[in-house]
Amino acid sequence: MFFISIKKSKDTLASKQKCTICNDEVETYYVPMKEWKLEGALCGDCYSKQLSDFYPGDHIRVNKE
Ligand SMILES: [Zn+2]
Repeated sequence: MFFISIKKSKDTLASKQKCTICNDEVETYYVPMKEWKLEGALCGDCYSKQLSDFYPGDHIRVNKE
């Protein structure tokens, strides 16, 4: 198994984003909408949560694998 990326992420923040909400490092991040009044990046989970909080009822799909 490869643990190199995990180890590296502590030092090389430039290539990583931290989720604004949960503070987790995320490789695939989402840019929050303007009306959410958030800065920085969001992880998929928090992005989905924000979407459902702000747009209840709407069916918005986030890429989930
Ligand atoms: Zn998050």
